[in-house]
Amino acid sequence: MLFQDISIVDEELRIVPHAYVGVRGATIAYVGTEAPREDFGTVYAGKDRLLCPALYNAHGHTIMSLLRGYGENMSLSDWLNRKIFPFEDRFNTAATDAGAMLGLAESIRYGVVSTSDMYFWCDSLVEALLQSGAKANVSRSISCFTEQHLRELRSFQEADALVRDWQGKGDGRIRIETSIHAEYTCTERVMAEMAEYTAEHGLRHHIHCAETREEVEGCKARHGCTPVAFLKRLGYLELPLLLAHGIWLEEEDFALLREAAELTVATCPVSNLKLASGVCPISRLKAEGIRCALGTDGAASNNNLDLWEEIKLFALLHKERSGDPALITPQEAFYAATRAGALAQGRTDCGLLKEGMRADLLLLDTSGPQWCPASDLMSHLVYAASGSDVVMTVCDGEILYKEGEFTRIDIERVKAEAEKAYRGILRELEQ
Ligand SMILES: [Zn+2]
Repeated sequence: MLFQDISIVDEELRIVPHAYVGVRGATIAYVGTEAPREDFGTVYAGKDRLLCPALYNAHGHTIMSLLRGYGENMSLSDWLNRKIFPFEDRFNTAATDAGAMLGLAESIRYGVVSTSDMYFWCDSLVEALLQSGAKANVSRSISCFTEQHLRELRSFQEADALVRDWQGKGDGRIRIETSIHAEYTCTERVMAEMAEYTAEHGLRHHIHCAETREEVEGCKARHGCTPVAFLKRLGYLELPLLLAHGIWLEEEDFALLREAAELTVATCPVSNLKLASGVCPISRLKAEGIRCALGTDGAASNNNLDLWEEIKLFALLHKERSGDPALITPQEAFYAATRAGALAQGRTDCGLLKEGMRADLLLLDTSGPQWCPASDLMSHLVYAASGSDVVMTVCDGEILYKEGEFTRIDIERVKAEAEKAYRGILRELEQ
Protein backbone atom coordinates (compact mmCIF):
# COMPACT_ATOMS: atom_id res chain seq x y z
CA MET A 1 0.00 0.00 0.00
CA LEU A 2 1.10 3.58 -0.65
CA PHE A 3 0.01 6.66 1.32
CA GLN A 4 0.31 9.49 -1.16
CA ASP A 5 0.84 13.22 -0.59
CA ILE A 6 0.02 12.89 3.10
CA SER A 7 1.03 14.58 6.37
CA ILE A 8 2.97 12.20 8.60
CA VAL A 9 4.49 12.06 12.09
CA ASP A 10 8.06 11.08 11.22
CA GLU A 11 10.65 9.17 13.27
CA GLU A 12 11.68 12.36 15.12
CA LEU A 13 7.99 12.98 15.92
CA ARG A 14 7.86 15.98 13.62
CA ILE A 15 5.01 16.69 11.23
CA VAL A 16 6.11 16.30 7.61
CA PRO A 17 3.54 17.46 5.03
CA HIS A 18 3.25 16.09 1.47
CA ALA A 19 5.02 12.83 2.29
CA TYR A 20 4.82 9.37 0.73
CA VAL A 21 4.86 6.15 2.75
CA GLY A 22 5.12 2.77 1.03
CA VAL A 23 4.43 -0.51 2.81
CA ARG A 24 5.67 -3.84 1.51
CA GLY A 25 4.58 -6.95 3.39
CA ALA A 26 4.86 -6.25 7.12
CA THR A 27 7.45 -3.48 6.73
CA ILE A 28 7.59 0.25 6.04
CA ALA A 29 9.65 0.16 2.85
CA TYR A 30 9.62 3.82 1.82
CA VAL A 31 9.30 7.20 3.55
CA GLY A 32 10.03 10.37 1.61
CA THR A 33 8.72 13.63 0.24
CA GLU A 34 9.05 12.48 -3.35
CA ALA A 35 6.83 9.87 -4.98
CA PRO A 36 8.61 6.50 -4.95
CA ARG A 37 9.53 4.87 -8.25
CA GLU A 38 8.41 1.50 -6.99
CA ASP A 39 4.81 0.31 -7.22
CA PHE A 40 3.39 -0.36 -3.72
CA GLY A 41 -0.08 -1.43 -4.87
CA THR A 42 -3.23 0.22 -3.47
CA VAL A 43 -2.89 4.00 -3.14
CA TYR A 44 -4.47 5.98 -0.26
CA ALA A 45 -4.81 9.72 -0.88
CA GLY A 46 -3.55 12.01 1.87
CA LYS A 47 -6.11 14.82 1.76
CA ASP A 48 -7.45 15.55 5.30
CA ARG A 49 -5.41 12.69 6.71
CA LEU A 50 -2.49 12.39 9.16
CA LEU A 51 -0.47 9.15 9.18
CA CYS A 52 1.16 8.22 12.51
CA PRO A 53 2.86 5.25 14.12
CA ALA A 54 0.19 3.05 15.75
CA LEU A 55 -0.27 3.07 19.54
CA TYR A 56 1.08 0.58 22.09
CA ASN A 57 -0.88 0.01 25.29
CA ALA A 58 1.70 -0.78 28.00
CA HIS A 59 -0.69 -2.10 30.65
CA GLY A 60 -4.01 -3.79 30.08
CA HIS A 61 -6.32 -6.63 31.05
CA THR A 62 -8.14 -7.06 27.73
CA ILE A 63 -10.70 -9.65 28.90
CA MET A 64 -11.87 -7.25 31.62
CA SER A 65 -13.77 -5.40 28.88
CA LEU A 66 -16.57 -7.74 29.92
CA LEU A 67 -16.64 -6.00 33.33
CA ARG A 68 -16.98 -2.48 31.96
CA GLY A 69 -19.28 -0.47 34.20
CA TYR A 70 -19.58 -3.29 36.74
CA GLY A 71 -18.66 -1.87 40.17
CA GLU A 72 -18.42 1.90 40.16
CA ASN A 73 -17.45 4.48 42.80
CA MET A 74 -15.58 2.08 45.08
CA SER A 75 -12.11 1.88 46.64
CA LEU A 76 -9.62 -0.45 44.95
CA SER A 77 -9.87 -3.13 47.67
CA ASP A 78 -13.69 -3.02 47.90
CA TRP A 79 -13.97 -2.98 44.14
CA LEU A 80 -11.68 -6.03 43.78
CA ASN A 81 -13.06 -8.08 46.67
CA ARG A 82 -16.76 -7.32 46.40
CA LYS A 83 -17.24 -7.00 42.65
CA ILE A 84 -14.35 -8.04 40.40
CA PHE A 85 -13.13 -11.27 42.06
CA PRO A 86 -16.64 -12.80 42.51
CA PHE A 87 -17.48 -11.98 38.87
CA GLU A 88 -14.19 -13.45 37.62
CA ASP A 89 -14.85 -16.62 39.64
CA ARG A 90 -17.87 -17.25 37.36
CA PHE A 91 -15.93 -16.91 34.12
CA ASN A 92 -16.30 -19.59 31.47
CA THR A 93 -14.70 -19.92 28.03
CA ALA A 94 -17.63 -18.27 26.24
CA ALA A 95 -17.28 -15.24 28.52
CA THR A 96 -13.50 -14.90 28.24
CA ASP A 97 -13.52 -15.46 24.46
CA ALA A 98 -16.12 -12.68 24.12
CA GLY A 99 -14.29 -10.36 26.53
CA ALA A 100 -10.98 -10.86 24.72
CA MET A 101 -12.40 -10.11 21.27
CA LEU A 102 -14.44 -7.15 22.54
CA GLY A 103 -11.32 -5.61 24.08
CA LEU A 104 -9.19 -6.21 20.99
CA ALA A 105 -11.86 -4.73 18.71
CA GLU A 106 -12.01 -1.59 20.83
CA SER A 107 -8.21 -1.29 20.92
CA ILE A 108 -7.93 -1.71 17.15
CA ARG A 109 -10.70 0.84 16.60
CA TYR A 110 -8.63 3.44 18.50
CA GLY A 111 -5.38 2.65 16.66
CA VAL A 112 -3.82 0.44 19.35
CA VAL A 113 -2.05 -2.50 17.68
CA SER A 114 -0.38 -4.07 20.69
CA THR A 115 -1.04 -4.45 24.42
CA SER A 116 1.06 -5.59 27.37
CA ASP A 117 -1.61 -7.80 28.85
CA MET A 118 -1.56 -9.40 32.28
CA TYR A 119 -4.45 -11.68 33.22
CA PHE A 120 -5.60 -15.27 33.24
CA TRP A 121 -7.65 -17.25 30.69
CA CYS A 122 -4.75 -16.45 28.36
CA ASP A 123 -5.73 -19.08 25.76
CA SER A 124 -8.87 -17.02 25.03
CA LEU A 125 -6.74 -13.94 24.50
CA VAL A 126 -4.21 -15.71 22.30
CA GLU A 127 -6.92 -17.20 20.07
CA ALA A 128 -8.58 -13.77 19.78
CA LEU A 129 -5.22 -12.19 18.91
CA LEU A 130 -4.57 -14.68 16.14
CA GLN A 131 -8.04 -14.09 14.73
CA SER A 132 -8.02 -10.29 15.05
CA GLY A 133 -4.52 -9.75 13.64
CA ALA A 134 -3.40 -7.61 16.62
CA LYS A 135 -0.27 -8.07 18.74
CA ALA A 136 0.25 -8.48 22.46
CA ASN A 137 2.76 -9.40 25.10
CA VAL A 138 0.68 -11.89 27.03
CA SER A 139 1.31 -12.98 30.60
CA ARG A 140 -0.52 -15.33 32.95
CA SER A 141 -0.68 -13.36 36.16
CA ILE A 142 0.27 -15.32 39.30
CA SER A 143 -0.92 -14.80 42.86
CA CYS A 144 -0.15 -17.07 45.82
CA PHE A 145 -1.26 -17.00 49.45
CA THR A 146 -0.11 -20.55 50.44
CA GLU A 147 3.23 -22.17 51.31
CA GLN A 148 3.52 -23.85 47.90
CA HIS A 149 6.48 -23.60 45.54
CA LEU A 150 6.01 -21.86 42.20
CA ARG A 151 6.14 -25.12 40.24
CA GLU A 152 3.33 -26.59 42.35
CA LEU A 153 0.90 -23.85 41.33
CA ARG A 154 -1.62 -24.60 38.61
CA SER A 155 -1.35 -20.96 37.52
CA PHE A 156 2.38 -21.46 36.95
CA GLN A 157 1.76 -24.61 34.92
CA GLU A 158 -0.56 -22.54 32.72
CA ALA A 159 2.08 -19.79 32.46
CA ASP A 160 4.77 -22.30 31.54
CA ALA A 161 2.50 -23.94 28.93
CA LEU A 162 1.87 -20.51 27.37
CA VAL A 163 5.60 -20.08 26.77
CA ARG A 164 5.86 -23.53 25.18
CA ASP A 165 2.70 -23.31 23.08
CA TRP A 166 2.49 -19.70 21.95
CA GLN A 167 5.84 -17.89 22.13
CA GLY A 168 6.41 -16.08 18.80
CA LYS A 169 3.22 -17.38 17.15
CA GLY A 170 1.39 -15.28 14.54
CA ASP A 171 4.70 -14.25 12.93
CA GLY A 172 5.96 -12.91 16.23
CA ARG A 173 2.82 -10.91 16.99
CA ILE A 174 2.32 -13.00 20.13
CA ARG A 175 4.98 -12.75 22.80
CA ILE A 176 4.77 -14.45 26.14
CA GLU A 177 6.06 -12.89 29.36
CA THR A 178 5.83 -13.81 33.01
CA SER A 179 3.84 -11.93 35.60
CA ILE A 180 3.43 -11.78 39.34
CA HIS A 181 0.18 -9.91 39.98
CA ALA A 182 1.76 -7.78 42.76
CA GLU A 183 3.87 -8.08 45.92
CA TYR A 184 0.75 -7.88 48.12
CA THR A 185 -0.89 -10.85 46.39
CA CYS A 186 2.10 -13.19 46.38
CA THR A 187 4.51 -14.93 48.74
CA GLU A 188 8.22 -14.13 48.81
CA ARG A 189 9.06 -17.74 47.96
CA VAL A 190 6.97 -17.79 44.78
CA MET A 191 8.24 -14.36 43.76
CA ALA A 192 11.87 -15.41 44.20
CA GLU A 193 11.30 -18.61 42.20
CA MET A 194 9.52 -16.64 39.46
CA ALA A 195 12.44 -14.22 39.09
CA GLU A 196 14.75 -17.24 38.61
CA TYR A 197 12.41 -18.91 36.10
CA THR A 198 12.06 -15.67 34.10
CA ALA A 199 15.84 -15.16 33.92
CA GLU A 200 16.47 -18.84 33.03
CA HIS A 201 14.02 -18.65 30.12
CA GLY A 202 15.11 -15.20 28.91
CA LEU A 203 11.61 -13.77 29.37
CA ARG A 204 10.30 -10.32 30.22
CA HIS A 205 8.30 -9.64 33.39
CA HIS A 206 5.21 -7.52 34.07
CA ILE A 207 4.02 -6.59 37.59
CA HIS A 208 1.75 -4.10 39.40
CA CYS A 209 3.91 -2.02 41.75
CA ALA A 210 3.38 0.88 44.17
CA GLU A 211 -0.18 1.44 42.96
CA THR A 212 -1.56 2.52 46.35
CA ARG A 213 -0.12 3.97 49.53
CA GLU A 214 -1.67 1.03 51.41
CA GLU A 215 0.33 -1.40 49.26
CA VAL A 216 3.63 0.36 50.06
CA GLU A 217 2.91 0.54 53.81
CA GLY A 218 1.87 -3.12 53.76
CA CYS A 219 5.09 -4.13 52.00
CA LYS A 220 7.18 -2.27 54.57
CA ALA A 221 5.36 -4.10 57.36
CA ARG A 222 5.75 -7.49 55.62
CA HIS A 223 9.29 -7.16 54.27
CA GLY A 224 10.81 -4.07 55.86
CA CYS A 225 11.23 -2.23 52.56
CA THR A 226 9.34 -0.60 49.69
CA PRO A 227 7.93 -2.78 46.87
CA VAL A 228 10.69 -1.52 44.53
CA ALA A 229 13.43 -2.41 47.06
CA PHE A 230 11.75 -5.81 47.48
CA LEU A 231 11.85 -6.38 43.71
CA LYS A 232 15.53 -5.43 43.76
CA ARG A 233 16.20 -7.91 46.58
CA LEU A 234 14.60 -10.74 44.60
CA GLY A 235 16.47 -10.00 41.37
CA TYR A 236 13.62 -8.44 39.38
CA LEU A 237 15.54 -5.29 38.49
CA GLU A 238 17.98 -7.41 36.49
CA LEU A 239 15.14 -8.61 34.22
CA PRO A 240 13.51 -6.69 31.37
CA LEU A 241 10.77 -5.32 33.60
CA LEU A 242 7.45 -3.58 33.06
CA LEU A 243 6.30 -1.94 36.24
CA ALA A 244 2.65 -0.94 36.11
CA HIS A 245 1.56 2.25 37.96
CA GLY A 246 4.66 3.22 40.02
CA ILE A 247 2.73 5.89 41.89
CA TRP A 248 3.95 5.75 45.50
CA LEU A 249 7.68 5.68 44.79
CA GLU A 250 9.97 6.78 47.60
CA GLU A 251 13.30 8.58 47.46
CA GLU A 252 15.49 5.45 47.57
CA ASP A 253 13.35 3.78 44.86
CA PHE A 254 14.45 6.23 42.16
CA ALA A 255 18.13 5.26 42.39
CA LEU A 256 17.18 1.56 42.19
CA LEU A 257 14.96 2.13 39.18
CA ARG A 258 17.60 4.26 37.46
CA GLU A 259 20.09 1.41 37.76
CA ALA A 260 17.67 -1.31 36.62
CA ALA A 261 18.76 -3.36 33.61
CA GLU A 262 15.80 -2.64 31.30
CA LEU A 263 12.87 -0.94 32.89
CA THR A 264 9.66 0.75 31.79
CA VAL A 265 7.08 2.31 34.09
CA ALA A 266 3.60 1.98 32.57
CA THR A 267 1.56 4.85 33.90
CA CYS A 268 -2.24 4.54 33.74
CA PRO A 269 -3.58 8.02 34.51
CA VAL A 270 -7.29 7.38 33.85
CA SER A 271 -7.43 4.23 35.98
CA ASN A 272 -5.36 5.85 38.73
CA LEU A 273 -7.67 8.86 38.87
CA LYS A 274 -10.82 6.74 38.78
CA LEU A 275 -9.70 4.53 41.67
CA ALA A 276 -8.15 7.58 43.41
CA SER A 277 -4.87 5.68 43.63
CA GLY A 278 -2.72 8.76 43.04
CA VAL A 279 -0.55 10.27 40.30
CA CYS A 280 2.68 8.73 39.00
CA PRO A 281 5.67 11.09 39.59
CA ILE A 282 6.50 11.54 35.92
CA SER A 283 8.59 14.70 36.28
CA ARG A 284 10.92 12.86 38.66
CA LEU A 285 11.05 9.73 36.47
CA LYS A 286 11.81 11.95 33.49
CA ALA A 287 14.61 13.69 35.42
CA GLU A 288 16.04 10.27 36.30
CA GLY A 289 15.90 9.16 32.66
CA ILE A 290 13.46 6.33 33.39
CA ARG A 291 11.30 5.29 30.43
CA CYS A 292 7.55 5.86 30.80
CA ALA A 293 4.90 4.30 28.61
CA LEU A 294 1.10 4.56 28.81
CA GLY A 295 -1.49 1.99 29.80
CA THR A 296 -5.27 1.97 29.93
CA ASP A 297 -5.42 -0.72 32.63
CA GLY A 298 -8.61 -2.84 32.33
CA ALA A 299 -11.88 -1.42 31.02
CA ALA A 300 -13.41 -2.06 34.46
CA SER A 301 -11.34 0.80 35.90
CA ASN A 302 -11.14 3.17 32.94
CA ASN A 303 -13.83 2.53 31.33
CA ASN A 304 -12.58 2.41 27.75
CA LEU A 305 -9.41 1.40 25.90
CA ASP A 306 -9.06 4.74 24.12
CA LEU A 307 -5.36 5.40 24.77
CA TRP A 308 -5.79 8.94 23.40
CA GLU A 309 -7.27 9.90 26.75
CA GLU A 310 -4.08 8.71 28.48
CA ILE A 311 -1.94 10.69 26.03
CA LYS A 312 -3.74 13.91 26.86
CA LEU A 313 -3.91 13.28 30.61
CA PHE A 314 -0.24 12.28 30.73
CA ALA A 315 0.64 15.71 29.37
CA LEU A 316 -1.88 17.65 31.47
CA LEU A 317 -1.62 15.96 34.87
CA HIS A 318 2.10 16.43 35.18
CA LYS A 319 1.95 20.06 34.21
CA GLU A 320 -0.53 20.54 37.03
CA ARG A 321 1.55 18.53 39.52
CA SER A 322 4.81 20.30 38.76
CA GLY A 323 3.37 23.77 38.23
CA ASP A 324 5.35 23.80 34.98
CA PRO A 325 3.18 24.10 31.82
CA ALA A 326 6.22 23.26 29.67
CA LEU A 327 6.93 19.97 31.46
CA ILE A 328 5.64 17.40 28.96
CA THR A 329 5.88 18.31 25.29
CA PRO A 330 3.41 16.88 22.74
CA GLN A 331 6.32 14.84 21.35
CA GLU A 332 7.02 13.30 24.76
CA ALA A 333 3.37 12.43 25.30
CA PHE A 334 3.06 10.82 21.86
CA TYR A 335 6.39 9.00 22.27
CA ALA A 336 5.10 7.45 25.52
CA ALA A 337 2.12 5.98 23.64
CA THR A 338 4.14 4.71 20.67
CA ARG A 339 7.88 3.98 20.71
CA ALA A 340 8.14 3.72 24.52
CA GLY A 341 5.30 1.18 24.57
CA ALA A 342 6.93 -0.85 21.78
CA LEU A 343 10.27 -0.87 23.64
CA ALA A 344 8.47 -1.91 26.84
CA GLN A 345 7.41 -5.01 24.88
CA GLY A 346 10.92 -5.64 23.54
CA ARG A 347 9.66 -4.84 20.03
CA THR A 348 12.65 -2.80 18.90
CA ASP A 349 11.49 -2.76 15.26
CA CYS A 350 8.12 -1.17 16.15
CA GLY A 351 6.66 2.14 17.23
CA LEU A 352 8.24 4.57 14.73
CA LEU A 353 7.22 5.65 11.25
CA LYS A 354 10.57 4.91 9.65
CA GLU A 355 11.89 2.81 6.77
CA GLY A 356 12.67 -0.73 7.88
CA MET A 357 10.34 -0.67 10.88
CA ARG A 358 7.22 -2.81 11.18
CA ALA A 359 4.25 -1.23 9.38
CA ASP A 360 2.16 -0.50 12.47
CA LEU A 361 0.27 2.61 11.46
CA LEU A 362 -2.82 4.61 12.20
CA LEU A 363 -4.55 7.10 10.01
CA LEU A 364 -6.42 10.07 11.46
CA ASP A 365 -9.19 12.04 9.79
CA THR A 366 -8.19 15.68 10.24
CA SER A 367 -11.20 17.18 8.44
CA GLY A 368 -13.13 17.87 11.68
CA PRO A 369 -13.38 21.35 13.24
CA GLN A 370 -11.14 20.27 16.15
CA TRP A 371 -8.20 20.13 13.70
CA CYS A 372 -8.74 23.66 12.36
CA PRO A 373 -6.80 25.87 11.94
CA ALA A 374 -3.88 23.58 11.08
CA SER A 375 -1.58 25.71 13.24
CA ASP A 376 0.34 22.98 15.08
CA LEU A 377 -0.67 19.42 14.19
CA MET A 378 1.66 17.86 16.79
CA SER A 379 -0.12 19.80 19.50
CA HIS A 380 -3.54 18.96 17.99
CA LEU A 381 -2.53 15.29 18.07
CA VAL A 382 -2.21 15.41 21.86
CA TYR A 383 -4.68 18.09 22.96
CA ALA A 384 -7.37 18.21 20.25
CA ALA A 385 -7.54 14.69 18.78
CA SER A 386 -9.59 11.82 20.15
CA GLY A 387 -9.68 8.11 19.44
CA SER A 388 -12.76 8.64 17.26
CA ASP A 389 -10.57 10.44 14.71
CA VAL A 390 -8.84 7.13 13.85
CA VAL A 391 -10.10 5.93 10.46
CA MET A 392 -7.57 3.18 9.72
CA THR A 393 -5.43 0.83 11.80
CA VAL A 394 -2.64 -1.18 10.19
CA CYS A 395 -0.71 -3.90 12.03
CA ASP A 396 2.33 -5.53 10.41
CA GLY A 397 1.20 -4.12 7.05
CA GLU A 398 -2.34 -5.51 7.27
CA ILE A 399 -5.41 -3.27 7.55
CA LEU A 400 -7.40 -4.39 10.61
CA TYR A 401 -9.85 -1.48 10.70
CA LYS A 402 -10.94 0.99 8.06
CA GLU A 403 -13.67 3.65 8.04
CA GLY A 404 -15.89 1.97 10.64
CA GLU A 405 -15.33 -1.61 9.41
CA PHE A 406 -13.24 -4.36 11.00
CA THR A 407 -11.57 -6.56 8.41
CA ARG A 408 -11.25 -9.66 10.60
CA ILE A 409 -13.84 -9.18 13.35
CA ASP A 410 -17.61 -9.60 13.12
CA ILE A 411 -18.26 -6.81 15.60
CA GLU A 412 -22.03 -7.29 15.87
CA ARG A 413 -21.55 -10.94 16.76
CA VAL A 414 -18.80 -10.11 19.28
CA LYS A 415 -21.01 -7.51 20.99
CA ALA A 416 -23.97 -9.91 21.14
CA GLU A 417 -21.81 -12.66 22.64
CA ALA A 418 -20.30 -10.29 25.21
CA GLU A 419 -23.72 -9.00 26.24
CA LYS A 420 -25.02 -12.57 26.60
CA ALA A 421 -22.01 -13.71 28.63
CA TYR A 422 -22.24 -10.68 30.94
CA ARG A 423 -25.99 -11.22 31.57
CA GLY A 424 -25.41 -14.93 32.19
CA ILE A 425 -22.81 -14.29 34.90
CA LEU A 426 -24.97 -11.58 36.49
CA ARG A 427 -27.85 -14.05 36.74
CA GLU A 428 -25.59 -16.61 38.45
CA LEU A 429 -24.33 -14.00 40.93
CA GLU A 430 -27.87 -12.95 41.81
CA GLN A 431 -28.96 -16.51 42.61
ZN1 LIG B 1 -3.69 -3.48 36.15
